[in-house]
Amino acid sequence: MHPTARRPQLALSLAAAACVVLTVLPVPLHARLGDEHAAARPARPVGSTISTPADTKADAAPAARAPVGGRSAPGGKSGGNLKPAEIRPVNTARAADNAAAGPAVTADEALTMLSEGNARWAAEKAEAPNTGTQRRQSVAQGGQTPFVTVLTCADSRIPVERVFDRGVGDLFVVRVAGNVAGDSELGTIEYGVGHLRTPLLVVMGHTRCGAVAMAATGAAVPGKVAGLVERIRPAVERARRANPEASPQQIADLTVQENVWQTVYDLLKHSPELRRQVAEGKLKIVGAVYDLAGGKVQFTGEHPWQAELLTALGAEAPSPGQTAANSGAATATATAEKQAEPATGDGH
Ligand SMILES: [Zn+2]
Repeated sequence: MHPTARRPQLALSLAAAACVVLTVLPVPLHARLGDEHAAARPARPVGSTISTPADTKADAAPAARAPVGGRSAPGGKSGGNLKPAEIRPVNTARAADNAAAGPAVTADEALTMLSEGNARWAAEKAEAPNTGTQRRQSVAQGGQTPFVTVLTCADSRIPVERVFDRGVGDLFVVRVAGNVAGDSELGTIEYGVGHLRTPLLVVMGHTRCGAVAMAATGAAVPGKVAGLVERIRPAVERARRANPEASPQQIADLTVQENVWQTVYDLLKHSPELRRQVAEGKLKIVGAVYDLAGGKVQFTGEHPWQAELLTALGAEAPSPGQTAANSGAATATATAEKQAEPATGDGH
């Protein structure tokens, strides 16, 4: 079993602080820069929290906001204490270009937003930001700029936006039983990462996953479900090798995390685009496991062998800060490939 890469949740970076400054400037910097698409960008952190009461109030008071569609707001353009990103009029003629701008957050900021939102959800203190009429209109006409791509299971007990206490246009979510990565999932993820430019990709498994349990127990699987389960079997085998005395139920539990790493491996192996973006520092891929009962998401960091995998799989550019570590690491690379690759071919 892989060592679990537990990384502390990062505090807001200097870049985040800069975003905060942008948010509170009387005249938004992006307006002076001629950025007409900031209105569709996701809400950014304010102070130590991401979603403020103002978000919720704003959703409940659409009359105080500027209308969408590029028209002037009656009674002036001031939106009171609304954030600039929420009161900027939208130029619908250029809505299709929004994706080119991408979200105005970094991967670490996006991770912080998810962590804080999940903490609210788990504590039953959800604020449900970006869920009002104004938000719907804004993203419908201004285009979407989600700040994260999430691949997770189709399980009905994972209401993804609620789990992270986010709203409309915030998360680009891909769901499939067992959070595996076939061609359709990979294509959708490449759309989220490559076209919509989300700086963060989260692969999230969950406790008591039925698809994982099927793979772990070796139960007969009907119809097309078999194809999904086959993708999980390499993770089951690794869990068994590392825990030969474990019971079937324990193996199923251990496989949840292994399956997350399996999927990250599959994504990297089959997508030169994702490898390139990770290597260039434009994308961070992290694993996560959602606890169905407790409601908490445990983020488990990047794949523990990511640097070696990028080298072994052939990234087009070195990952920042990892070049030196990779040099002369042939043994580690081989080990990484052996550890990370599915036990049966490429798992497809
Ligand atoms: Zn599941």
